[in-house]
Amino acid sequence: MFQTLRAKLLIFFLLVTFIPLSVVGIMGYYAQKSELTANLENSLSTHTKSMAAEIETFIRERLYDVEYLARNPIIIDEDTDTQEKRQQFNQFLAIHDIYFSVVLSDTEGMVIADTDDNIVGSDITDREWYAQSMEGESFVSDMYYSPVIDENVIVLSSPVFNTQDDVIGVITPIFDLEELTSTLQNFNRAQQAGDSDSYAFLINGDGVIISHPNQSKILEVNYFERFDTSINEVRELAATQSLTTYSSSDEVHGFSSISQVPGFENEWYIGVAANGTDLYAPLTRLLYQYLIVFGLVLLIMTFAVFRLSTYIVRPVEQLVEATTNVAFGKRDTPKFVTAYEEVNRLNDRFEAMTERLEEREKGHKKSTLILETTDNGVFALNRVTKEVSLFNKRCEEVFGLSRDEVIDNKACDVANKKEGFKSFLEAANLLGLLGKDEVRKTYEIECTMDNNTRYFYLSVSSLPNIVDETLHEDLLVVFHDLTEKRLMERELMRSEKLKVVGEMSAGLAHEIRNPLTTIRGFIQLFDSKKEASNERYYNLIINEIDRVNNILTDLMNIANPKLSDEPKETNLELLLDDLLLLHQSQLKKKGIEVNTYFHGKLPSVFLDANKIQQVLLNLVQNACEAMDNGGRLTVSTSYHKPKQEIVLSFTDTGVGMDAETIEKLGTPFYTTKKTGTGLGLTTSYRIIEEINGQIAVTSTKGVGTTFSVHIPVNED
Ligand code: ADP
Ligand code: MG
Repeated sequence: MFQTLRAKLLIFFLLVTFIPLSVVGIMGYYAQKSELTANLENSLSTHTKSMAAEIETFIRERLYDVEYLARNPIIIDEDTDTQEKRQQFNQFLAIHDIYFSVVLSDTEGMVIADTDDNIVGSDITDREWYAQSMEGESFVSDMYYSPVIDENVIVLSSPVFNTQDDVIGVITPIFDLEELTSTLQNFNRAQQAGDSDSYAFLINGDGVIISHPNQSKILEVNYFERFDTSINEVRELAATQSLTTYSSSDEVHGFSSISQVPGFENEWYIGVAANGTDLYAPLTRLLYQYLIVFGLVLLIMTFAVFRLSTYIVRPVEQLVEATTNVAFGKRDTPKFVTAYEEVNRLNDRFEAMTERLEEREKGHKKSTLILETTDNGVFALNRVTKEVSLFNKRCEEVFGLSRDEVIDNKACDVANKKEGFKSFLEAANLLGLLGKDEVRKTYEIECTMDNNTRYFYLSVSSLPNIVDETLHEDLLVVFHDLTEKRLMERELMRSEKLKVVGEMSAGLAHEIRNPLTTIRGFIQLFDSKKEASNERYYNLIINEIDRVNNILTDLMNIANPKLSDEPKETNLELLLDDLLLLHQSQLKKKGIEVNTYFHGKLPSVFLDANKIQQVLLNLVQNACEAMDNGGRLTVSTSYHKPKQEIVLSFTDTGVGMDAETIEKLGTPFYTTKKTGTGLGLTTSYRIIEEINGQIAVTSTKGVGTTFSVHIPVNED
């Protein structure tokens, strides 16, 4: 899926755009964030610090007040009475409206005077502040709940020294708590008025809340437990003036510690809480802005890449389509859109290439057509691998091999499969020629195929390599079948010979026969005189004369093959049947078995039956004479429709003939028999030739012979 150019372009552009954009975005975001945080820290710390300072001042002022009061001469004077002391207290209250009561106790822990005069005599020995001040120190307590007055209190106390610097009591002015936390409340009110959620609070070292806008939390809630934090963290925050965020309540807190002074040893912290969402709202806004920009860029980028990729890819796709078409032979000229320079050039080249390809293919087709339709057999052998690399249709016909079983097979393997091919290769010595570097020769060969002798005219040449012309890779063999021509020539020669012999013998026979008839007559005359002793010789002479007469009859037949009888409709199978019946006993005597395979419905032919009978008789007789020790004679008839001829064949299992004998068949007086005339076949060839027929022979020495008589049928 990511392999297409389009996908790759998209990914590439997205990376190129988004990486810098993201880096800038992230950097900007964090810069903004840290700036914002620094600002926040600044402003919160300003608030907490100023509030802490105010509270510090307040406490110092209170300590100063109480110490000042403790040095009042009337109060340190043990001789003044309670009334006088109360008067001093009231004067103090009048000056400082922040206080509303003063209590003085003696060294026994007994209240000896107070402004309201209602707790005199109470025992306060168990109070912490009392114990502290009795030690001689001023003291500001932490806040605690006082059940006596049912209120939260912070006690301020100071020892009272007499002139000898002995502690003679402890003085405790009660001040308004509200005044302590007023600075916090002012801040909170201002925030509320400003519609802000920020608020200030005060905690002590144990996390106890001392001041809080929500009154119910004071002394009730522990800050450390509430926010799951500790004094150490708060100390750290106060020291570094940094902020902490509580995501549970979405608040940001900052602290400042309140410095301790002699008499004030509490660890107090002023805290300011602000709403996190509000604080970081600008940051969130920034984030959204970035996301919108990113989205827009993504959209524009995708669109741009889509357009760009279409622009780039479309011509390529067209080219691919056109190439596919060409590859599968579809040739409508493609219409390329004009695109960018490179593709235009590619398209031009493509078209030029297609044209050249087409031309080449046309040429190739033509050559193939020529190769396939030519009457010549053409095949090629690779000189190195000895494999057949070309084999045309004519070769298939001649060798009876299909191209598939030949092409890319070793020539010798094919030869082993097909006897005819082997004999061809051997006769032409092609395997020998494969070893030669450059061959160019023409010659004639004779070989045996399917038991027939075939003649070929051969042209053998080495074929230069298409790439390197000096390299001769293949051996090209072009051959022409001469068999028909050679047979025809032989036929022609035979009939020419026959003609001459015929003309000669006609005269000769005539010349001999006349005197012979005279001689025979006289000898018969002598014979009638009955000279017994000579009877045997007479018979001998008569027989010999008869024999000569027979020869002469045969010779006359050759000489005058003009059919003697009028041709008439002849049933060849009936003729054969009669003939075989006539010779039945003779054949039986020699132990010859006769088989007949008749077609049964041969078309009728118009012939001189006597002459044909003479031919058939000749062939049966020859077969019979070839099988002296018995055998089988097979006579069959068939009709070959396309050639319009009837074929009568005589197959014997006799002695057979060698090539030389076959060659000479039909030559007058050629015989291999003691008493033969050597005219039987001469006559037969003559007769069949007269009716435009043909006699064919196949024979194997020692196996048998087949004579086939081809008689043309004129359908009309
Ligand atoms: P003839 O039979 O008088 O010898 P033909 O002309 O009939 O003369 O035959 C010529 C020769 O052809 C024969 O001598 C014989 O050698 C050969 N021949 C003919 N037919 C056959 C056959 N069927 N088998 C073997 N040889 C044959
Ligand atoms: Mg014969």
